[in-house]
Formats: sequence, structure tokens, C-alpha cells
Amino acid sequence: MAKKALADLSASDVSGKRVLVRADFNVPLDDAGNITDDTRIRAALPTIQDLVEKGAKVILASHFGRPKGKVVDSMRLTPVAERLSEKLGQAVIKCDDCIGDEVAAKIAGMDNGQVALLENVRFYDGETSNDPEFAKQLAANADLYVNDAFGTAHRAHASTAGVTEYLSPAVAGSLIEKELKYLQSTVDNPQRPLAAIVGGSKVSSKIGVIDTLLDKVDKIFIGGGMIFTFYKARGLSVGDSLVEEDKLALAKELEAKAKAKGVEFLLPTDVVVADKFAADANTQTVSVESIPDGWMGLDIGPDSVKVFQDALGDCKSVIWNGPMGVFEMEKFAKGTEAIAHTLADLTGTGCITIIGGGDSVAAVEKVGLADKMSHISTGGGASLELLEGKTLPGIAALDDA
Ligand code: ADP
Ligand code: MG
Repeated sequence: MAKKALADLSASDVSGKRVLVRADFNVPLDDAGNITDDTRIRAALPTIQDLVEKGAKVILASHFGRPKGKVVDSMRLTPVAERLSEKLGQAVIKCDDCIGDEVAAKIAGMDNGQVALLENVRFYDGETSNDPEFAKQLAANADLYVNDAFGTAHRAHASTAGVTEYLSPAVAGSLIEKELKYLQSTVDNPQRPLAAIVGGSKVSSKIGVIDTLLDKVDKIFIGGGMIFTFYKARGLSVGDSLVEEDKLALAKELEAKAKAKGVEFLLPTDVVVADKFAADANTQTVSVESIPDGWMGLDIGPDSVKVFQDALGDCKSVIWNGPMGVFEMEKFAKGTEAIAHTLADLTGTGCITIIGGGDSVAAVEKVGLADKMSHISTGGGASLELLEGKTLPGIAALDDA
């Protein structure tokens, strides 16, 4: 269902108003407490800047790590406030709490166009339990609500869902709008042919997405550890490769569904096998028909890459979720890297390319191709649930358009 967005609000709707913005500032830190990747901070800037320009008092809320309802000093948002202030080019008022008198006093002193950052909302149990009383306290210092935290939109928490009971309007920020535009519109209303590439370690974690995508796509490519469950279901030997014995029947069903729907279903033709799960393992490339006993498949092979590239050639939209191999180890990263390059090239020819999934995004970033894709999702779990056709509570709670 279409949701009301920040873009639907005029300057007079927000000018002088206290706007609670739920962002996702859950950025990685190194041991010294320095931010190692500020992608999520940068992703939140358009919404914040839009509100600043419209003269709102911007009150930012986010979770950070898993403090489990207690104040944990190493999980304070102080480094985020500093980086955000640099990126915005203006001061960010840092609050030491997310509710209560201190926060109320700081917000009461804000001028139009100023930005404040509340402390980690997960310092309270009420955040993850979506406690109405906590949501009410969060909402107490604001007039209206913008959710721009796509990465946590699949969670019904107080700051992502509960607050919408107390703040109106409650609208989607520009990041959520962009995520929905790419992840949802591409699946529901694609330029065809539409292909999906699904990889990662286990079939069990991707059943939902494969099943849902089979109703939408023209072609589906399977890679990663899950291919061996499909091979075994076909009666092939897979050596010591990862297999989910309890998913063999399901793998057969998914292949049968693809056939019934007329969806081209492509499995790799060759694999890189290793004699152990290690970066220094001995390796060889073999046909999927002749995986030797005692060896495990950890990447797709060069012939598979060629087959995938050929079949992707005429596609106008491609969604990729899950790496093709154990890309964390150099010896098993080639398949994933080759697919990343292929998608980057396709983007250059006008194909819409969407990368969703935490590890797939990390793999694309590792090879430096992130800005060559049409869209890199900022939420692994949320993008998967969206592609599975699930309703995300943080989006469902917003006002309808
Ligand atoms: P994403 O986060 O993109 O959705 P997943 O979390 O589903 O991806 O899967 C990523 C993991 O899958 C990576 O850690 C990778 O090492 C693993 N993986 C890929 N191929 C294999 C394989 N052949 N055997 C074991 N693990 C694999
Ligand atoms: Mg993952």
C-alpha cells in the first residue's frame, strides 16, 4: 500500500514543528570507537537536510548495537553526533537520554532548522518490546513523525511503530521511499526481463524469497551454498558441500514451480571445490556432475559465470540477494566478484540493478562497485522481508498516501 511521504509535506506543514525522525545510525565502530563506515549516516542526510531547509526542529532517534535495555557507555551515539555534524555542516545537539526532562529542556530551546540527536533508544527495554508508555514518552517531545530507518523497518519497535499512535502525520522519509521504489516497484512493476540472483549459505534462509520471486521474475539464478541442496535433490553427489537434508523435497518443489511458471531456472554448471573450509585450502574447479568425495564446493566456477552472464545479457532489471561463494576468502570470491562486475556493466547499459542483503552489499562494496549499481539497499533483513512480500511493521504503521 502506498504511504504518505516526507515529499508530500510542504514547508508550512513542518516549519517550526518538532519532527521526530527515526534514522538507522547503527554504524560499525573499531576498537577505539571510531566509525569505520558512515554509509548509514550519509543515507539519512537527504531527509534531515530537507527538514532543516523547511525550518523544522529535527529530533533524531536511532538504536545502536544491542545494549539490551541498559545504559552501555560504549553504545552511546556520541560519535554519530560528531560525524553527522561534520556531514551536515552544522551543530548537532546531542542529548544524553532519549526521553525525560533533560531532553524536553534541550528541545524546548531549539530554533527552527536546528538538529538534535537523542541517545540510543535501546537503552530502554520498552524500545524492542514496543511498550506503549515508552512510545508515548518518545513522542511527547515531538509534533510529527518521519520514519527513515529502513534497516529496522521490519521490526515493530516503539521508535519504528509504537510512536505512530501518538504522532500525526507519520510519514516515510526519503530513504525509505527510495528503498520502496527500488525493492518493491521493481518486483511489482518491472522492466522485463526481470532476473533474480539468489545466493548465500542456506536454502532455509532464502526459501521465502525464492518462492515469492518465482511468481514475479522471468529468470532466476541460484548460487552460494544452497546450490548443493538442489544438486543433491537432483541425485548428484556433492561431496562434503553444505547440504540441508531436510530441504531436499523443497528444493525439488521450487524447481518444479519454476518450470510450471515458465521461469528460467539456472543453477551453476561448475564449482570451485576445496579440501577444507579455509583460506589456504587446496582447490580445483570441477563440473557439478563430478564433485569428488571429501571436497566441498565454496564458489561457482568460470563456466557458470559465463552461463549467468549470457542469460543476464538481455535483462532490464536484476535483483541480487546473497553472494555466489565464500567471498570472505580470496580463493572463493571470484564468482561473486564476476557477478558484481557483470551487474555494474549492465547498469551502464540502462538495466536496473538492485543489491539487497548484508553480505551481498558488503561484497559489492569490497570490489568498489557500489556506486555502479542502481540501488544498494541499506537494510539486509528488511530488504529480504520486503522481497519475500512481507509487510514491514515500520512502514505499515505510517499514514496511507
Ligand atoms: P546476504 O547477507 O547477502 O543475504 P547470506 O547471509 O544469505 O547473504 O549469505 C552469506 C554467506 O553465505 C557468506 O558468509 C558466504 O560465505 C556464505 N556462502 C556462500 N557460498 C557458500 C558455500 N558454497 N558454502 C558455504 N557458505 C557459503
Ligand atoms: Mg547475511
